[in-house]
Amino acid sequence: MTRASGSLKYPARVMLVAAMNPCPCGYYGDRSRPCVCTVTQIRRYRAKLSGPLLDRLDIHLDVPPVPVRELRAELPSAEGSAAIRARVVAARDRQRRRYRSDGFYTNAQLKPRQVKRYCGLDQHA
Ligand SMILES: [Zn+2]
Repeated sequence: MTRASGSLKYPARVMLVAAMNPCPCGYYGDRSRPCVCTVTQIRRYRAKLSGPLLDRLDIHLDVPPVPVRELRAELPSAEGSAAIRARVVAARDRQRRRYRSDGFYTNAQLKPRQVKRYCGLDQHA
């Protein structure tokens, strides 16, 4: 953190996940209900988020609403916690092996130079 009075380093690694409605009423772009906001209201609402804050969010996604009946539906094929845990443990193990000689052990610790080295995208990606 840098301010006029100086600079501080905190020992923390943060992943910020944030969400907001697309407009004050929450239905802009929704196919099930019409948005009742004016263009001015939407602009004013979105302007509450400052540019510097938005610049620090790396990924912005529009996520369509999920109907309540789908949220409540039973998902017979849903993966259980034990299976998910096994996948996470396997992924962490792959990362630990991949970065063994780099002195760190997770994807979250990659610096930009290492992202270029390990995360190259082919044409399909
Ligand atoms: Zn609206």
